[in-house]
Amino acid sequence: MSEPALEVSGLHKHYGSLEVLKGIDLKAKKGDVISIIGSSGSGKSTFLRCINLLETPSAGEVRLHGELIEMRTNRSGEREPANMRQVERIRSRLAMVFQSFNLWSHMTILENVIEVPVHVLKVPKKQAIEKAEALLQRVGLYERREYYPGHLSGGQQQRAAIARALAVDPEVMLFDEPTSALDPELVGEVLGVMRGLAEEGRTMLVVTHEMSFARDVSNKVMFLHQGLVEEQGDPRQVFANPSSERFKQFISSVY
Ligand code: ADP
Ligand code: MG
Repeated sequence: MSEPALEVSGLHKHYGSLEVLKGIDLKAKKGDVISIIGSSGSGKSTFLRCINLLETPSAGEVRLHGELIEMRTNRSGEREPANMRQVERIRSRLAMVFQSFNLWSHMTILENVIEVPVHVLKVPKKQAIEKAEALLQRVGLYERREYYPGHLSGGQQQRAAIARALAVDPEVMLFDEPTSALDPELVGEVLGVMRGLAEEGRTMLVVTHEMSFARDVSNKVMFLHQGLVEEQGDPRQVFANPSSERFKQFISSVY
């Protein structure tokens, strides 16, 4: 059997005495779409940030296609990545889409999409532009490629952020509440793009409050409560027949 695309084991994260993640395991096969749900403060963002090393886990292992991300304890007793070149390489194989879009406001949409390919991955500019234009076409923004982010709606900005994420050919895509900052009428266009990515077999971890996405698009759901996995499994099963009382309460509160 091939290596999981992403494997996390025994992940802990604390900030001082605050223990935010208390031992999380996750295995994502290629093509898995895993929805991570849970109330505010349960550790969902921290979990994604530990996977792409925006935060260093306090304990535990992260592997991308079997490759262990090396960590060490520095002289002040803090854990840190052991090999920055590996971190750069791993980051270029992951892509994260944030709630707040995080586009570079002083660059056009097209410039946003080609920035990392050209300046980090050293793709020739002409080739990067061709690919970016195809991606912008795909998310319905080709006509807006010369616009600055501030002149686009939230839904358009988020679709541009997804095109930017796709431009690095990520092996795993991480989404942190990609529709939470959008006006309700704009949520559908972003979920539509994400559904398309799921259907073409992209490996995705999606923190979301959109229960219809979790139920209908993902093939696995993980419910976090206070830094632990409280319930997980096949969405059809866990939504129809939840075993955790807290999960039942959660779903009734978000519907
Ligand atoms: P979620 O995304 O599920 O809402 P977070 O992962 O953002 O939860 O946060 C989980 C907990 O960790 C919260 O109590 C939050 O205040 C705390 N936390 C997150 N980041 C930091 C940080 N950099 N320093 C201290 N505490 C943090
Ligand atoms: Mg969060």
